[in-house]
Amino acid sequence: NDDPRIHDIKSKIRVVPNFPKPGIMFQDITTLLLDPKTFKNTVDLFVERYKNKNISVVAGIEARGFIFGPPIALAIGAKFVPLRKPRKLPGEVISEEYTLEYGRDCLEMHIGAVEPDERALVVDDLIATGGTLCAAMNLLERAGAEVVECACLIELPDLKGRDRLKGKPLYVLVESH
Ligand code: AMP
Repeated sequence: NDDPRIHDIKSKIRVVPNFPKPGIMFQDITTLLLDPKTFKNTVDLFVERYKNKNISVVAGIEARGFIFGPPIALAIGAKFVPLRKPRKLPGEVISEEYTLEYGRDCLEMHIGAVEPDERALVVDDLIATGGTLCAAMNLLERAGAEVVECACLIELPDLKGRDRLKGKPLYVLVESH
């Protein structure tokens, strides 16, 4: 993609080696947020893609999906549903466990937040192994929604997380190797 906005976005993501542990190249999007023009271009690229797709719900994954999901939802006229880490949501929830490099984690969604036959977009900052997005998609599908697409700023393609997304499309702005 030779959209100049994409080059600018890539240049504003800070890569921090060995954070939070040795061997991880951490992709830090907080530096991108410091430039309001870049932040807006990031949101706009997703809005341009999703505005006429009849999406009724944007599901954002805690925590960095909470930064990009809501402005996209507002711009396309969809509701926003937070997918949270365990024991944060006060109402009745459904849960999906998933495997991490070390151990397991879990995402939860409020029952009733999403109705059957809604059209969902799942948003996070980054896809690595795809486990997080897969759990998010399972929550939405259990509620009866159709996941139209997953959207991230960054893909680590070497980890092949894309292959875990149950055949659904993934849209990313930049790749990092
Ligand atoms: P995964 O489930 O393996 O696809 O991991 C994706 C989740 O972990 C996302 O919520 C990311 O924010 C976070 N994550 C994984 N690897 C990185 C990385 N190298 N830099 C920043 N965040 C990461």
